[in-house]
Amino acid sequence: MAGADSGQTVVVLGGGVGGVAAANRLRRRLDRKHRVILVNREPEFSFAASYLWVMTGQRRASQVTKPLSSLERRGIEVVIGDIETIDAGNRTVSVNGERIGADYLVVSLGADYATDSIPGLSEVGRTFATLAGAQQLEPAIDAITRGRILLVTAAPLYRCPAAPYEAALLIDDMLRHNGVRANVEIALHSAEPGPMGVAGANVSAAVTGILASRGIDYRPSHQIVSVEPGSAAFADAQSEAFDLLVYMPPIRTPAVVGASSLASSAGWIEVDRRTLATAFPGVYAIGDNIQLPLSMGKPLPRAGVFAHAQALVVADNIVATIEGRVTAATFDGRGGCFVEVGSGKAGFGTGDFYAEPSPQVTLRAPSRRHHLAKVAFEYNVMHRWL
Ligand SMILES: Cc1cc2nc3c(=O)[nH]c(=O)nc-3n(C[C@H](O)[C@H](O)[C@H](O)COP(=O)(O)OP(=O)(O)OC[C@H]3O[C@@H](n4cnc5c(N)ncnc54)[C@H](O)[C@@H]3O)c2cc1C
Repeated sequence: MAGADSGQTVVVLGGGVGGVAAANRLRRRLDRKHRVILVNREPEFSFAASYLWVMTGQRRASQVTKPLSSLERRGIEVVIGDIETIDAGNRTVSVNGERIGADYLVVSLGADYATDSIPGLSEVGRTFATLAGAQQLEPAIDAITRGRILLVTAAPLYRCPAAPYEAALLIDDMLRHNGVRANVEIALHSAEPGPMGVAGANVSAAVTGILASRGIDYRPSHQIVSVEPGSAAFADAQSEAFDLLVYMPPIRTPAVVGASSLASSAGWIEVDRRTLATAFPGVYAIGDNIQLPLSMGKPLPRAGVFAHAQALVVADNIVATIEGRVTAATFDGRGGCFVEVGSGKAGFGTGDFYAEPSPQVTLRAPSRRHHLAKVAFEYNVMHRWL
């Protein structure tokens, strides 16, 4: 590998929230003699936090995607292709059959959807968790004039704990707007024992209260096991009828991570909770592909807000190491998440997820201000990051 005085190469794996934030920060802070390379499967960045607005028709797909090649004008080298292997010990990866070596590696490969773990789910149901799925849902919801919409979280572990609850509230809002809500039942059955459980009992109770106030029939701890057209079977042998099934998919570690020495026995990457360093020198991991256990026994939620914060910490520490300075930045477990409730309002759950013995998080009441803050964040991502 190159000496400290010569140019160093930082390779960022993944062009999602964590990867783009890390690459931007590295490029902004590192001397130009050092290379920053970002590798991603798809040529486009796609902002998942806006998919629910695609579902409601408030955004077009083109407004929430951007070519990753736009990073090149800042001096970030972008490689589009499938990462086939990661050799963490030697800090090399293979992409499209080519080997890329790194002095520092940042792994932000997200999470794969494990939709195949529930037979029939992807064939019969629709999801807002992909851009294509969100696009298909908008006309499907708009076409409904009567019947029953069943939303499910297909496992207790999924990306963004707020998203399925926001989806139920936004669908309610769409149906009210269409004047058909009185004829359409909305039920939400979650695999987990309550909404946003890591954020604590108060947040959970507040979200449950909002669902009830909107006439959404909420059933916690109800694990879906299989789906047929018009009917979903659950682990307690009950079945639920529906005209439209909407789901939040389960997740698993990205295949290439699972096949690498970075994977723990559970499949996810384990890191130092403050520095995001892996067991391999010069290799860091951030975002959805890491598992950060909290003292209350559950992992830190998979959320872009954390991937972003972790990206900045890792980038700053890589820059400091390259420049021979003492590394100081740490991830403190603080973060906030908007909860869209419809009618242009959002709540805001924010706090300290590293607090002992359990996270200290409060849900600020839905308001126009929080919704506009999310719009501003989206603008920042889509127009300043890329
Ligand atoms: C519907 C929805 C709403 C959400 N809303 C919010 C929200 O309001 N607030 C919030 O904080 N979070 C939200 N999230 C969660 C947030 O999107 C994720 O936590 C965040 O994107 C994680 O960033 P990441 O960099 O870890 O992974 P990602 O953003 O998923 O990026 C991973 C990238 O790696 C690429 N990749 C994977 N494997 C390979 C491979 N083998 N080769 C090449 N490339 C590969 C993927 O294609 C992807 O581009 C939401 C998620 C969903 C689904």
